[in-house]
Amino acid sequence: MEKLKILVVISFLLILSQSLLAKEQEVDLIIYGGKVVTMDSQMRVIDRGAVAIDKNKIVYVGDVISARKRFKSRKEINARDRVIIPGLINTHTHIPMTLFRGIADDLDLQEWLNKYIFPAEAKNVNEKMVRVGTRLGLAELIRGGTTTYCDMYYFEDAIADETSKAGVRGVLGQTIIDFPAPDFKTNEEAMKGTEKFVKKWQNHPLVIPAVAPHAPYTVSEEHLKSASNLSKRLNSPLVMHLAEAQSETDFVMEKKGMRSIEYVNKIGFFTDKTIAAHVIQANEKEIEILKKNNVGVAHNPQSNMKLAAGVAPVPQMLKQNLRLGLGTDGAASNNNLDLWDEMDTTAKLHKVISGDPKVMSAEQVFTMATIGGARALHLEDKIGSIEVGKLADIVIVDFDGLHQTPFYNIYSHLVYATKSSDVRTVIINGNIVMLEKNLITLNEKSIKIDATAFRNQIIKSLSN
Ligand SMILES: [Zn+2]
Repeated sequence: MEKLKILVVISFLLILSQSLLAKEQEVDLIIYGGKVVTMDSQMRVIDRGAVAIDKNKIVYVGDVISARKRFKSRKEINARDRVIIPGLINTHTHIPMTLFRGIADDLDLQEWLNKYIFPAEAKNVNEKMVRVGTRLGLAELIRGGTTTYCDMYYFEDAIADETSKAGVRGVLGQTIIDFPAPDFKTNEEAMKGTEKFVKKWQNHPLVIPAVAPHAPYTVSEEHLKSASNLSKRLNSPLVMHLAEAQSETDFVMEKKGMRSIEYVNKIGFFTDKTIAAHVIQANEKEIEILKKNNVGVAHNPQSNMKLAAGVAPVPQMLKQNLRLGLGTDGAASNNNLDLWDEMDTTAKLHKVISGDPKVMSAEQVFTMATIGGARALHLEDKIGSIEVGKLADIVIVDFDGLHQTPFYNIYSHLVYATKSSDVRTVIINGNIVMLEKNLITLNEKSIKIDATAFRNQIIKSLSN
């Protein structure tokens, strides 16, 4: 009798523990059925995979069957026949410059800047223009599956405000430049304004404020040092154009007797979170300097090609395992914010320049647009791959277009065949910002109306 009692109790406990174990965990969102391209350290690709998201984090990556057993979800997205990728990362742009898209083309960097861009900016850049251009750029980024971007412009506080409202992630740098800018007229004002901006946005869930001295040819040695010190003191990223063209190298050589990278290294400019855009004029020794200083590099092939600025030594940078991402630069020198275009161009440009089709694989290029970009922005522990514990920045892409048929290799298809128009759904920080091609946080119609109104004003200002 006693034995029977014990048996009954034991079986009761077993049933209880099993039912407790079987209880499904409740999560906010499950994406299921698609091919998951994780970009984790094993480069896992999961056919018929699932991703579970709770609040702003990824809590599960694996097969659909286990996900169904383990989780109960408040919301589900069916991604069958689609591909689930980490959100793309644009490591260098000037987002309000979308309003200068196509204003002056087919010129070299100095002529383009001095004759067109700087005058157009002097006459038109104000907080309102920046807000309109930012909204336009954000809508374009989301439509193209970009979930994080690194920016450098004026009125960066307004850019941060629009970016956070649209639910997009950004490393946003307030520009410091040695001529009266549209927002700050002197270096003293710019330094004070930048400090205020960084302190205001630090600890925001989406915005990472940064200090952004424009370039070694537009900011004096003293001001480069003070910008770097500010970035160190506030522990914020330091963003700058660096070694962008032969004209810059000549200028710095004449003034300082050194090339750009050597010069900024010598004055102690680099912090542990520097992000350098372009880096075309870099020899082996300078690549080593960048590596030693943990510098993130933003490669912008289309902008560099359009301004005939040169070709960055990306294969050598890859060999050295630099923190290397892709950027579009501003829309005035690209002329879009499309990272799919940029991936395709990157792969092909370096093949033609080196004469070696094996110099760079599609997998390496897709890495640059995702986890590589995260490394370039010093955010690889938070974004850039689909892994448990990372922030939920995820993009679902159509994969059944004619231009994607038939299918053999995932990275080849992502880099050489897929287009931004194939992006279907975008999730940033756990929030859906585009669902089935419908923008949730931005109004496309009013963005176009506002942008066209500014275009008319810009044309008028240049004819005066
Ligand atoms: Zn730039």
